[in-house]
Amino acid sequence: MASPRLFVAADLTAGARVELDAAQANYLFNVMRLKPSDPVRLFNGRAGEWTATVGEVARKSGVLQVGERTRDHYVPPDLHVLFAPVKKSRTDYIVEKATELGATALRPVFTRRTVAERVKTERLRAVAVEAAEQTERLDVPDIAEAQPLARVLEGWTRTDPGRSILFLDEAAGGADTPWREAAASGAAPVLRALFAVPETEAGGWAILVGPEGGFAPDERERLRTATFVTCASLGPRILRADTAVVAALTAWQSVLGDWR
Ligand code: SAH
Repeated sequence: MASPRLFVAADLTAGARVELDAAQANYLFNVMRLKPSDPVRLFNGRAGEWTATVGEVARKSGVLQVGERTRDHYVPPDLHVLFAPVKKSRTDYIVEKATELGATALRPVFTRRTVAERVKTERLRAVAVEAAEQTERLDVPDIAEAQPLARVLEGWTRTDPGRSILFLDEAAGGADTPWREAAASGAAPVLRALFAVPETEAGGWAILVGPEGGFAPDERERLRTATFVTCASLGPRILRADTAVVAALTAWQSVLGDWR
């Protein structure tokens, strides 16, 4: 069984001492039942992965002794996920799966039909850290504060110059046209849309997924007419938002990401 992995904020250099907070001490000493001199793998999102050993053990604190770097730093290809918050458990699932699938930023957006009023950003950050530890990433995706989609789009070329949006559109054309016409009216199947991207344009991307109620007609119109938006279909069935995130990230990583 590989030694536990822990995300820490501290700088990592040979021989450094890393102080544990109560949650980290609880995880290592109560959950993983580590004893002094047991091994731990550390990463801080900036400096690859390092060995460490348990130094001091206390009830709500502890100290780790940093050893040497065993993996060079690596950041996955630049991919953001813009998602409408859905039911809490499914939003947690979106954060966990997007972290495993290499998203570099998770950006909750309130759309017209979003039911959730607020997003607990700190809690989503904890979900992302835990997923990054488990999936053996060396970085943790940024979790942005939730914003209205309209505001994000209106400032897009300023805040995200050169970044394309892959708009996952469960319908297409006029108001709530059933998905069948989607392909006929320009929402290309997702792989065809991604393979059509010229190598030069394979810069930063953002995948946009809507809420349980889908996108409103005016949102769809706004998105479909934006130069930085590529509209794509995920096939002839309506997927839950969390399923759509997994399907779209799988396609993106395979064509433009680090699964090539
Ligand atoms: N209630 C809507 C579906 C919303 S599904 C309806 O019945 O039409 C939640 C989100 O997942 C959608 O907004 C879209 O972003 C994505 N999604 C689901 N199925 C999709 C598909 N077949 N193609 C593209 N995106 C899809």
